[in-house]
Amino acid sequence: MRRVYPASTSIPRCQVCGVHEHLCFCAGFPVLATRTKIVFLQHPQEARKPTNSARLACRILSDASIVPWSRVEPPRLGDDAILLYPSPDATPLEPHELAGSATVVIPDGTWSQASRIASVLRNTPLRRRILPTGNATTWTVRQSDDPERISSAQAAAMALHLAGEPEAATSLYDAVREAGRRILAMRGISADRRDPIAPIE
Ligand SMILES: [Zn+2]
Repeated sequence: MRRVYPASTSIPRCQVCGVHEHLCFCAGFPVLATRTKIVFLQHPQEARKPTNSARLACRILSDASIVPWSRVEPPRLGDDAILLYPSPDATPLEPHELAGSATVVIPDGTWSQASRIASVLRNTPLRRRILPTGNATTWTVRQSDDPERISSAQAAAMALHLAGEPEAATSLYDAVREAGRRILAMRGISADRRDPIAPIE
């Protein structure tokens, strides 16, 4: 079995990209305006995690925002906003739905936290949509056997790709991939070799 070294907790991390400060690459990020508004509904536990892809996305996308999630007092969202989550009644997101300045709402948390957020919102007028599965394959960003289990920022990148905003989609996708590669390196795992190397301390 592959041994996974925990990332050192003694080295300060960048609050945005989540990697050790000497590996931070945020200075190279572009800041891009988008027609599509991305809103991350962030579970409170996700806000406390050292790595969070929504924070990374908001650093790059000037029109994206994080809205704290509260189960007892769910935030008000526009009735025509699109909830991007694979609910049983969700239909595939179509590019024409993103032709204007659509708002795309993405639950941000673990899989079960995101599931509970979507469950609380099931009786709201939000449009329920799922990413087309072919899209996930095109972007080769699957991190598990389930193509729907992608990070919040990856979901945002795919929505922007569908919306015809390729520069923002590609910049975000590249940043997520690079952050993932650096975090694996912090844990002593080569993303290319997939076997342990000396942990960085
Ligand atoms: Zn950083």
